[in-house]
Amino acid sequence: MNSTDVKTIVIRKTDWTVAWDAGKSRHVYRRGIDIAFRGNAILHVGPEYDGPADKEIDGRQSVVLPGLINIHCHPYNQPTYKGVREELGNPKLYMSALYDRTALFQDHEGGPEAPCAYALSEMLLSGVTTIADLSPSYPGWIELLAKSGVRAYVTPQFREARWDVPTGHRLDFVWDKEGGQKQFEKALALVDEAVAHPSGRLSGIVMPAQVDTCSAEMFQESVKAARARKLPLQTHAAQSVVEFHEMTRRHGLTPIQWLDEVGFLAPDVTIGHGMFLDHHSLIHWESRSDLGLLAKRGATVAHCPTVFSRYGHTLEHFGSYLEAGVNMAIGTDTHPHNLWEEMRTAAILARVNAKDFRAVTTADMFNAVTTGPAKALGREDIGRLAPGAKADIVLVDATHPIMRPLRDPLRSMVYTAAERAVRDVYVDGVLRVENGQVLGFDFAAAAEAVEQGQRRAEATVARRNPKGLSGRDISPLALEEM
Ligand SMILES: [Zn+2]
Repeated sequence: MNSTDVKTIVIRKTDWTVAWDAGKSRHVYRRGIDIAFRGNAILHVGPEYDGPADKEIDGRQSVVLPGLINIHCHPYNQPTYKGVREELGNPKLYMSALYDRTALFQDHEGGPEAPCAYALSEMLLSGVTTIADLSPSYPGWIELLAKSGVRAYVTPQFREARWDVPTGHRLDFVWDKEGGQKQFEKALALVDEAVAHPSGRLSGIVMPAQVDTCSAEMFQESVKAARARKLPLQTHAAQSVVEFHEMTRRHGLTPIQWLDEVGFLAPDVTIGHGMFLDHHSLIHWESRSDLGLLAKRGATVAHCPTVFSRYGHTLEHFGSYLEAGVNMAIGTDTHPHNLWEEMRTAAILARVNAKDFRAVTTADMFNAVTTGPAKALGREDIGRLAPGAKADIVLVDATHPIMRPLRDPLRSMVYTAAERAVRDVYVDGVLRVENGQVLGFDFAAAAEAVEQGQRRAEATVARRNPKGLSGRDISPLALEEM
């Protein structure tokens, strides 16, 4: 872009704005203000912008929000599991579907492009402007993210062991350290490519995939590689009961204690999903140090409530993590890729678990999709509307019936409207959603392709499980088909 292409856009007299108050160091509501941005940077958030402008937008019927950040999602395959994964688990592995159920329904023929296009459309349409995309490395990944217009952290997962469930009730690990090293090197090359991308919107996260599938050395090498690049880290840990038991069996330590022992926990580290800590009621381990360790080391928890609630599991509980001083972020992990619904689910589950509506606030939820993940990524220029921040801006239709009566915009969205009134979304100063339509993808075509992929995958399920069960045996439809 040359300087003559850089335009100044002003949104005038917004009905409501979620603005960043630097003095208070938190989001606040402001009414009737102007927001001006030039190129990809916000110039002004306050009354009456009087500088030059190339374009004026009437904001009187808009709620204006900072773009949301999805710290943890797997767009390459999750859309394919719609209608499958909502009621799917292995009761003999403490309900988790992770180890031997979900992957049976993965489409290996169609490639990740269509599911990615579908998930990225969902996210942009709900006002997500930054994502951490946790996928295995695939050709064309960086180009796809660049084309989407989203601000993206390429997060290629690598691991030295794969899971095997030979009997249906025992999780085994098949180690291949050499293969893991190759994946690690490939991931670093991809991350470097993302950082160097001319869009300036792409970056990377170094991600040893899971606490139980990578060695201490792999975690330590990952830390070195990330610090040398000044990039954040992420891993999956404390995400299932069987994983917890595996780690205590191997080391006599909880997953979190072991990660701390190998030197992994730090302020630039995000733990997906930090649920099965030593105090959790399904664990009830002899120690009570996990939550304190996460807080002391400054690590972030990527909480993805929907996927776990499907197994009957929940964090115990969001409010107590905050109270302990843990930086909290919310991601989607599964379909739907809808952070508004995740916020609602997280709030409800926290309150039910605490048996106290004061356990969390709506502001806590909103922080967990804005400033919380921004902190995990080491950034103060996203997740907030403030001069100098990136122009990642969401305009919501304040007159949409589902938003009204509009007494409190965030409550209208979190508890009722979710993404349905999101109208326009700017990422890095560029319009990527206009009038509720995503501009970078053909959402309908992506949906059609994902559906074909799902049919193709389901036809192969019987060949992919030892008992020869069909897709409908493993995940029956909600109603019997006559
Ligand atoms: Zn995940």
